[in-house]
This record gives sequence, structure tokens and C-alpha cells, in this order.
Amino acid sequence: MDIKKENVARPVRWIALAVFLSISFTLFFSASGLAGMIPFSVKTTKDELNIRVKADTFSDILTVIETAGTALYPVEENGNWYKIRFANNLYGYVFKAYVEQGDAFPTKISLFPGAALRTSTNADAQVHTICSTGGQVSVMTYDDTWYYVTTYRGEKGYMLKSSLYEPTPAYPVIEGQDVEVELDTLVKVTSATANIRSGPSTSYAKVITVTAGTILTVISQTNGSDGYVWYKISTSGGTEGYIRSDLVTAYSTETALAGKVVAIDPGHGCYKTDDANTMDDGNVGPSGLLEKDVNLAVSLYLKAYLQASGATVVMTRSKDVGVMTLASRAATANDANADIFISVHCNASITDSKKNGVITYYFGGNAATPVSATLLAKRKALAADVQNALVAENGSANLGTGSDGFTVLVKSTMPSVLVEIGYITNPEEEALLATAAYQQLCGKGIYKGVLKYFETN
Ligand SMILES: [Zn+2]
Repeated sequence: MDIKKENVARPVRWIALAVFLSISFTLFFSASGLAGMIPFSVKTTKDELNIRVKADTFSDILTVIETAGTALYPVEENGNWYKIRFANNLYGYVFKAYVEQGDAFPTKISLFPGAALRTSTNADAQVHTICSTGGQVSVMTYDDTWYYVTTYRGEKGYMLKSSLYEPTPAYPVIEGQDVEVELDTLVKVTSATANIRSGPSTSYAKVITVTAGTILTVISQTNGSDGYVWYKISTSGGTEGYIRSDLVTAYSTETALAGKVVAIDPGHGCYKTDDANTMDDGNVGPSGLLEKDVNLAVSLYLKAYLQASGATVVMTRSKDVGVMTLASRAATANDANADIFISVHCNASITDSKKNGVITYYFGGNAATPVSATLLAKRKALAADVQNALVAENGSANLGTGSDGFTVLVKSTMPSVLVEIGYITNPEEEALLATAAYQQLCGKGIYKGVLKYFETN
């Protein structure tokens, strides 16, 4: 199911808690402070500098810093060594003689209103100033409890980490740029049956047998020792092999969708209608990938493939937009007299981070919104074609198709589907969904499903 974004806490909702935490720490937490907290970065002065696990020349090497001039961020001094914090809470030690003082730690961190700037790392220490409006400070160094910061007014001091929050990770926001794609070179099997072989002659082993009408993607061609041209091909299921060129005919898709109107709906990416200041990101992956951006990127590839085959494409959005209801997304397709409507989403499971795969939904009708048998058959066919072509292309698990009452499906009057291209809550699938290459595969897979659908509908 599509988990609503309301389930995901936003920083703004934590303001009350943060203020409470600040008070709690003030009353009950008597920190002795950071022994030797270092308010500056250091720069390495030699190449191939060893970072050791302990402050000891004979200790194991944690990592090697390749280039002189690399900035490191010490969290404390330990005799002739600095203790350095690396990503993922890894610590190592660098010999002081091999570094020089560098710049202040540059990261900007956002403040909760009420955050207090203190003179030392003691929760009872004198307060310089109380932040009433939020804003940002530059963090120079930090440990598990405190940041040492500079405010925009140049004041330096310590702030409890619980009174600050890190900005949302910066993912490349897709601005709705159109993409360019090249259509595959396709051939259609003309012989009643034809063997796909492991090499370019009949002396090679048979990989599979295909039947007349099967469409194959040509990867390359070669002259076989038998005097025939052989195509290296892949099937829609991803099987590769060789087929003799006289058993197939060229299959052009450049005009296959001429005259067809396809409405594409990249899910989310608009203000929530109950809160005009809050963007509906859709589901959010464990590393912070936003569903709205994946949906749009895949939709733009889908659009490019459809247009390359001659279709007219109508988009419900091509970038992040203001308030847009689900009903108005369907109305965009209805008003355009679209032949089909495809809503693109990513799935989520809050209970099972291993769950993965593709599901395509259609709406089969209910008492309030009955659906004719003809329309239902077309919707089921479109769902099956999109589902099967997508999993063949992106290699994800096939979780099948089903009827569901998503508003965009209920309100659209044509054959319409909502495809969940993967589980953004699965770390492996999230990592794939974040790449342009996989987004293109998903767009191409849905496009191939559309091609298949219009062959018979
Ligand atoms: Zn969604």
C-alpha cells in the first residue's frame, strides 16, 4: 500500500520536544564538558598519511589520507595526537606533527527556536543568547552531545545537539528537465519457430526457442561462418543469444503510437491540500530519497520514449507544483481525452524493509462508480502489460496486478493504471531507484508495456 507522508515526522513537529529536551538537560544533565573540544579543522601536510585506530604509532591503520591539504575535524586532543571523527561515527587518530590548523568547520545547521548558545559545554553554563526564530549557525566541531558554533552575528559558543537539526540531505532535485532517449532496434520473428543460440551459427547450443510474432531487441550484428548475418539479441525477459537474420523482419516503433494520447501522472510533488506550505514528498527512503523525485524522473523517461514512438503526452506535473488534488490529476487526463492514464509511484512498507518488487493497480469499479465490462477488460490488459514489461526490464520482483480504489484511478474515465515501480523503503531498491540508469529502465519498461497494450487495443 501507499503509505501517506503524514506518518513521517518532520523537523518542525519536533520543536516542542526539542525545547523540552533543552530544559531537561539543563535541570538533570551535569555534563563536565568536552575535554579539549577542538574548534577548528586541521589540514594534513603530507601525502599518504596514516590514520590509526589508537593514539599509538604501533596501532593498526584505520585509513590512509592520500593527499596533503585534506581537511580533518578533530573532536579532542590526546597527547601528540588528534582524535578525528569520520563519517558513520568512526574515530581515528592523526599525529599532530603531520597536520596544521585549518578552517573552521563549515557545515551550516538549522536551529530550533529556543536554542541556547552557552559559554561552555556545561548545561548550567552562562547563556550568551537564546534563539527565538530558528535560523542557522556554522558548526565548527562537535561531539555526541554538543556543537561548537558561530552564529551569523559572529558569536561563538556551545549548543546542545538536541537544540539543532541537520538540514534535509541534499538530493539532486529533478527540475523537470526533458531527457533524450534512443529507441532500441527491434526485430519481429517471422518464422513459426526460431532458435536463439549461444553463438552466431547453428553449431552453437540452443538457448531458447521463440515463436512467430516475438519481438527481440538487437544488440549487435555479425557475419556468421555459414554466410548469414546473425543478430545478437535480447528477449523481453533479458535472455541474450543469437538469431539468424532471415528468421526475423525489422520492427519499427518510431510511429507505433502515432495518434495516441497518453496521460502521465508523476505521483506527489505538490503542496498538501490541507497545508499549503508543506510539500507532499510521498514515501521517503531510509537514506532520504524522496518518492516525488523518483516518480518525476521515471515519468520524464517514459514521456521521452512515448514521444519517440509518436504519442502525444500530457503530464499532470513536470516539476514540483502548488496545490493539486488527486481528482484534478485525473481531470487532466479526462480533459485531454487521453487514450490511457498512467500514475507512477513508489511503494513503502513500514513493517518490512526487505519487501521489494513491482505492483500495478487498476480500478475495477464499485456501486458508486461502476465500470463496464469492456473498460474493465482494457484496464486489466493495460495493468498486465505494464506490469510484465516493467519487471522484464528492471528485473524487480513481480508482485502482480490488483484492483484498488486510488482516487486517480476512480476518477479517470479511460483505461488507467497506478504502477508502484519498487519499494523505496527497501535500502537496495532505494539505491537503485536513486540512479538515472534505473529510472530510465523503469520508464522504458512501462513504455514497452504501453507498446504491447496498443498492439491489441
Ligand atoms: Zn506514492
